[in-house]
Amino acid sequence: MHDPEQAFKLTRDRAPDHSKIADGLPEVIVNPALCTNPKDCLLCFRSCSSKLFAYDPGTADPQTRADQLPRVLCHMPELCTLCMQCVEVCPQKAITIKTTE
Ligand code: SF4
Ligand code: SF4
Repeated sequence: MHDPEQAFKLTRDRAPDHSKIADGLPEVIVNPALCTNPKDCLLCFRSCSSKLFAYDPGTADPQTRADQLPRVLCHMPELCTLCMQCVEVCPQKAITIKTTE
C-alpha cells in the first residue's frame, strides 16, 4: 500500500529545489488556508496516478509555525502530467496548477 507518511519520509530530502526548476514546468500549489485537515482527506494523494503527492505530518508542538502544520504537497511537480485529477477531486478547491506558457 502507498503509505503517505512513509512516502514523505522517503522523499523529503529529495524534494526538488523549486528555484532550479526551469520555466515551463508545472507548479502544483496546495493552499494551506483551504486544506486545513489533510490527514482526514488525502483525496489528492490518492487520486494522483503518478504518485506525486506526499503527506507531511508536521509537528505536534502547540507553538508550531504555519509551515510546520500537517500538509500535503506535490514533491515532484516536474513529473505532473496536467491530468487535473487532483484539482477536480479536492473538496476544498485548494489545489492550483500553474504552468508557464
Ligand atoms: S494534475 Fe494529475 S499528475 Fe499533476 S499532480 Fe494533479 S493528479 Fe498528479
Ligand atoms: S484533496 Fe484538497 S483538501 Fe484533501 S488533502 Fe488534498 S488538498 Fe487537502
